[in-house]
Amino acid sequence: MNTQDYIQREDKYGAHNYHPLPVVLDRGEGVHVWDVDGKKYYDFLSAYSAVNQGHCHPRIVKAMTDQASRLTLTSRAFFNSVLGEFEEYVTKFFGYDKVLPMNSGAEGDETAIKLCRKWGYEKKGIPENEAKIIVCEGNFHGRTVTIISMSTDPDSYKGFGPYTPGFEVVPYNDIPALEKALEDPNVAGFLVEPIQGEAGVYVPDDGYLSKAAKRCKEKNVLFIADEVQTGLARTGKLLACDHENVRPDILILGKALSGGLYPVSAVLADDDIMLVIKPGEHGSTYGGNPVAAKVAVAALEVIKEEKLAENAERLGEIFRAELKKIDHPMVTLVRGKGLLNAIVIEPKGGKKAWDVCVALKNNGLLAKPTHEHIIRFAPPLVITEEQLMDAVGIIKKTLDEF
Ligand code: PLP
Repeated sequence: MNTQDYIQREDKYGAHNYHPLPVVLDRGEGVHVWDVDGKKYYDFLSAYSAVNQGHCHPRIVKAMTDQASRLTLTSRAFFNSVLGEFEEYVTKFFGYDKVLPMNSGAEGDETAIKLCRKWGYEKKGIPENEAKIIVCEGNFHGRTVTIISMSTDPDSYKGFGPYTPGFEVVPYNDIPALEKALEDPNVAGFLVEPIQGEAGVYVPDDGYLSKAAKRCKEKNVLFIADEVQTGLARTGKLLACDHENVRPDILILGKALSGGLYPVSAVLADDDIMLVIKPGEHGSTYGGNPVAAKVAVAALEVIKEEKLAENAERLGEIFRAELKKIDHPMVTLVRGKGLLNAIVIEPKGGKKAWDVCVALKNNGLLAKPTHEHIIRFAPPLVITEEQLMDAVGIIKKTLDEF
């Protein structure tokens, strides 16, 4: 089969809920992926930051395959011999009393919403069914009906109503608007992405997160950080909230919690919050399964031992400096933190961000536009300076073609 055959088969038999670049990937290792013709690419999307540890990291693969041939799933109807190991490791790693494991990022967010609402009723005394959660304009927390109910992006919500009530939207990076919304005594939580990834890598002003967390505390409102994309070393610290020394009341992790091998998400909180959920009130067949538990521990060990946060911080500075040097009429803005970066593209001669991404692909680098005019650059964090400079060369050369 050639590339077109693979693409046509997906088109014929698969739902059309994605619009991929015309490349068919077959193999991955570290920062590279190879297509079905054997052509090699830099992966500058990293599966939306799930593959921070690099493709097929041998240590995580070993953890997964060892456990896969021993015990894969028991459901939570019984205890298993590795879940506790993961729970102890991850809670000590991030400094929380408890963890609740799920699978996808969206489930992590759903879990946080349920925890927050229940805490609101049981601990804050909000009247039944009146709890509100403040969210931000431009948010992206996943694709479930409840989550799209708080989305401000018509692509996410339009045509999928009726929507779940209980959310109030405020502009991102706007403390006065948050303060106003916090006046409502029925507010139980503020759910925020420390950097808005899917919206196009919007980095809020320094001090936004710490001020927001402080205002929440003053109003007895839970500060909930969705670090599904920004967490786990991506922005140059273990958590993006660490840049401002903010400790979320509820922390949501996903994506790189497995290094791209397996869907693993987790919600962390202290006992006062986590224990409002009682047996039977929440869960998932696969959440906390033995393979996920082993994979997540290995994925976190790699982040720590290979100093991926430090690498992201250092190379992120170099990368942005290099991108800012590019003098090209289509590149109007460079922004980001660590190795979560984006350039804003101004269309030229009918050519858009999509065309730039197709040309980048032809030159050996994979990236994908978000919202038509933004190209996100988020390579695996195991990238070396030499590889990064090579990739910068590809980006420059590609833009010169326009
Ligand atoms: N939260 C954030 C901040 C995300 O970026 C994403 C996915 O991009 C999600 C949640 C949803 O994760 P998943 O696709 O694993 O459900």
